[in-house]
Amino acid sequence: MELTERIKRIPPYIFATIDEKKAEAKSRGIDIIDLGIGDPDIPTPQFIVDKMTEAINNPANHSYPPYQGTLAFRESVSRWYKNRFNVTLNPAKEVLSLIGSKEGIAHSFLTFLDPGDKALLPDPGYPAYNVGVLIAGGVPVSVPVTEANNWQPDLDAIDPAVAKEAKMIFLNFPGNPTGAVATDEFYEKAIAWAKKYDVLICNDLAYSEVYFEGQKPRSILEFPGGKDVAIEFHTLSKTFNMTGWRVGMVVGNEWAVQALGKIKTNVDSGVFGAIQEAAIYAMDNYQPFVDNQNAFMQKRRDIIVNGLNELGWNLTAPLATYYIWAPIPKGTTSNQFTIDLLEQTGILVVPGTGYGAGGEGYFRISITTSNDRLEEAVKRLKQHNIRFDSATVSA
Ligand SMILES: *Cc1c(COP(=O)(O)O)cnc(C)c1O
Repeated sequence: MELTERIKRIPPYIFATIDEKKAEAKSRGIDIIDLGIGDPDIPTPQFIVDKMTEAINNPANHSYPPYQGTLAFRESVSRWYKNRFNVTLNPAKEVLSLIGSKEGIAHSFLTFLDPGDKALLPDPGYPAYNVGVLIAGGVPVSVPVTEANNWQPDLDAIDPAVAKEAKMIFLNFPGNPTGAVATDEFYEKAIAWAKKYDVLICNDLAYSEVYFEGQKPRSILEFPGGKDVAIEFHTLSKTFNMTGWRVGMVVGNEWAVQALGKIKTNVDSGVFGAIQEAAIYAMDNYQPFVDNQNAFMQKRRDIIVNGLNELGWNLTAPLATYYIWAPIPKGTTSNQFTIDLLEQTGILVVPGTGYGAGGEGYFRISITTSNDRLEEAVKRLKQHNIRFDSATVSA
């Protein structure tokens, strides 16, 4: 039997490749500090688990849920958006539950792209965008995000002919892998640009609640005209350490939300009712938990940023996300740097190229491990004299 062209187009999943390297190093007795995948190491807060325990015992939750999310869930999302962003959403038409935002992101390409249609994607960016476009038979077009432009896509640099053809553009702030936060001016400009070229903005807001120094990231829907051109993907995964639960939402432009819903109705049957109940409770009791969690994560961020800066890096601490995005020392490549680093120190990081060709020259550290392990990582970097200004990474 022959695999489809669709499957053949899919590049290997970056974390599958990294897992292999990790297993191989482990088998040689190396003590690995895993700063690779961005999966919270802290369990889901007990108040949410307790709510789930209660909800799972309710037989009403044992049948098929409404495909678009229970009305109570969609109302809770609207309430949360109102409190958090002062954005008004109609729960009946502008909100849909998702089985994690990755599900909604993947289905967005099936919804908005015909075969051969172009989607503009940040490079470096979250790998699911590129793969999702390929699966839908679309054409991914990279939009560079560079340090020179504060890790924001330079919309003026997009060829107007390509902009006219493109059906959608993905934005992701706070950004994975860069940790960058968008300026207000950027969102205003993006809305005007999208109107001019009739392109749907898909804003991935997975990390809006992982922020530091009290600087809350904004939603594109806060800006005038945002709802005319944008939908926003959101998730409880990163906010509440709920990656395994699979619950998120898409909100915003009614036409686009409803279109995505049409695809979803025919593919999945919604999110388990008990999970939706637990998610409602989480969103309604959000603030104290998030404040604590972010203060805790900020300490971790500082361990890594200060540690690298003592070794010759000159990093500005990111204001959001679990990620430290740092340049590699001269004289190597992203891929080689991460291989050598694992070999010499047992520290596992992700090569920037795992997020697109635009990530060459960088690596990503995830702070989803304990302070002790992060301090141990800094200690090992110092022991092995891995410095930013060194010519190579040799020990
Ligand atoms: C983790 C992540 C997601 C997906 O999260 P779900 O668990 O599927 O909700 C989406 N976008 C980015 C940028 C992420 O890092």
